[in-house]
Amino acid sequence: MTGSSPRFEHAPDATRRYWHNTPLNTLPPPDMVGNYQRFKPLPTEGIQSRKAWIVGGGIAGMAAAFYLIRDGHMPGANITIIEGAGIEGGSLDGAGNPEDGYIVRGGREMNWNYDNLWDMFQDVPALELPEGFSVLDEYRLANDADPNWSKSRLMHKQGQVLPDFTRFGLSRKQQWEVVSLLLKRKDQLDDLTIADHFSEGFLASNFWFLFRSMFAFENWHSLLEMKLYMHRFLDAIDGFGDMSALVFPKFNQYDTFVTPLIKLLREKGVQVRLGTQVLDMDFEVDNEQRTVTGLHTRGDDGEGRIAVAPGDLVIALTGSMTEDTAYGDMDTVPVLKKRHGGPAEGSSWGLWRNLAVRSPVFGNPDKFCGDIDRSMWESATLTCKPSPLVDKLRELSVNEPTSGRTATGGIITFTDSNWVLSITINRQPHFPGQPKDTVVMWVYALLMDQPGNFVKKTMPECTGREIVAELCHHLGIADQLDAILPHTKVRLALMPYITAQFMPRAAGDRPQVVPAGCTNLALVGQFVETANDVVFTMESSVRTARIAVYSLLDLPKQVPDLSPTQYDIRNLLKGARALNNGEPFIGERLLHKFLGDTYFAHILPPLPSNEGEATRRERLEAELAGLKDKGGAVLQGFAQWLDRFAGQLRKRGDD
Ligand SMILES: Cc1cc2nc3c(=O)[nH]c(=O)nc-3n(C[C@H](O)[C@H](O)[C@H](O)COP(=O)(O)OP(=O)(O)OC[C@H]3O[C@@H](n4cnc5c(N)ncnc54)[C@H](O)[C@@H]3O)c2cc1C
Repeated sequence: MTGSSPRFEHAPDATRRYWHNTPLNTLPPPDMVGNYQRFKPLPTEGIQSRKAWIVGGGIAGMAAAFYLIRDGHMPGANITIIEGAGIEGGSLDGAGNPEDGYIVRGGREMNWNYDNLWDMFQDVPALELPEGFSVLDEYRLANDADPNWSKSRLMHKQGQVLPDFTRFGLSRKQQWEVVSLLLKRKDQLDDLTIADHFSEGFLASNFWFLFRSMFAFENWHSLLEMKLYMHRFLDAIDGFGDMSALVFPKFNQYDTFVTPLIKLLREKGVQVRLGTQVLDMDFEVDNEQRTVTGLHTRGDDGEGRIAVAPGDLVIALTGSMTEDTAYGDMDTVPVLKKRHGGPAEGSSWGLWRNLAVRSPVFGNPDKFCGDIDRSMWESATLTCKPSPLVDKLRELSVNEPTSGRTATGGIITFTDSNWVLSITINRQPHFPGQPKDTVVMWVYALLMDQPGNFVKKTMPECTGREIVAELCHHLGIADQLDAILPHTKVRLALMPYITAQFMPRAAGDRPQVVPAGCTNLALVGQFVETANDVVFTMESSVRTARIAVYSLLDLPKQVPDLSPTQYDIRNLLKGARALNNGEPFIGERLLHKFLGDTYFAHILPPLPSNEGEATRRERLEAELAGLKDKGGAVLQGFAQWLDRFAGQLRKRGDD
């Protein structure tokens, strides 16, 4: 329960308890997403005169302003976003021009059940379409007309697409490693890493290459977070191999999301104070209750203090994954501001650290920002004029890269790259106004401490020129570098905290959205607790902002838990099939026998179409025999266990 209302859980947790209808429980299920949730609550008392101070102008801060206005009925003019940088958007960036080269620190893989994000963007006017259309309309129309898929998701041996790259390549034992993680309780996974649970064989499989490069997981990251990803994206698992499970924006994330959202907020009267960092807060403490009374700031005009009046709200970001980004280019290696001892002074992490020394309710920031060797990676944005590099990528794309349609269809990962290098060309133009013959390509790598296979340096030691050389080696076109480099501009971004949100964590390391006892403060972004959602997404930033607004205003409205796709038997069945390398899993043929002639036949993945009737019967018989043997052994084991258990009970009774 995040709010103070006795009846309302503003962020209900679907995994906490059995849910059923009773006269005392008439709200929809905790994870019901749909139009019934679209109602607007009535304005709360005094809302016209309350103010909100929002710290951080990324998607979380902007979403907080949006929900204060749409669902909280707060006048836009009462809201101020305070942003340390000179521009809004935070990690959602996109800048540059064809002469200097474009830069995006990241790309945007998304899926259709980012329900909070879409809830917001269905009410934000579209960037390009006429009045009446929303950003969601624009996004869907782009993706429905031009589906995403990849024909070269995994590559190796300098330019060769891996045969059968959509198959996960997991043995039965390795499939069980996945299933056993799904079965574990969340509270059993404190501080464990992925490598603690999975075998070396699993960590060398196609599945792991697909999964870790798609979501940017390292073997030393949080096992709990990986589990949450497995649950959230279970419905998409059969689309991991060819990326058909993903949707992408038309342009880069800044133009697609930030431009229309900030325009709307400004039109509603929201004030944005750029170039102002919030360093600390003043609190009035009354027994267990904490109320923010002031914000300490530093800006171009020096240090200052913003008084927070009674009734006013503070919604603040705790830490940013793109803080302290170091930039480089064709001939310049990015240099970090600070390598050891945590984030640079005055960074976004500073505010969280100052809160955390006051009370454990504010969590443990150093768990996330304390070891940059484990949270850092680098991306490169290539602005390419026609050259053999674009020609090679054309071969690997599903449409002509300059056609405006899906190109590589998500990242291509080189499985024998020491850096675990990946590249992608999203729909072009990636920037409004980008010249027709120019292609913007995004490159990133996971391992920052390994020398390249061609350039014998680590990625952070390389110039843009050297990174292009390493990339061309993996594409099998290193001999054409002289024809490529003059037509390619590179901009680099080395991000020390880019996967800080994935660092191993335990309960209490991330604060609650409204930490215990706080009367007017909520924390948002990637480093606060949600019951079941994953991090490293725009969705979780919007989710936490929405929870913050509903809780602080005590609105009679809920932020539904994750869309319940993981419980859908169809997703479980197709997931089991995908895990089993696309082949029928044990027991599946039997299910076909039972259900094949019933109403439920459609829930089963079809059996391979190239099997004749005789083969099909043979395989069913083999499956039955196998199940009988295994079932016999399992039943025998179970009977012995029951005997032992009954014996123990008797013994306890005698004692
Ligand atoms: C390389 C990369 C790839 C990504 N890929 C995906 C993807 O495929 N799919 C997806 O959904 N998401 C992806 N993301 C994640 C997504 O972009 C972020 O989760 C989201 O943008 C975070 O938004 P935020 O507002 O919570 O924080 P940020 O955007 O990090 O916001 C931080 C902003 O707040 C300001 N700020 C912070 N503290 C203070 C302070 N004390 N005072 C003043 N200002 C402050 C900072 O200056 C900054 O502008 C990716 C991100 C990156 C960088």
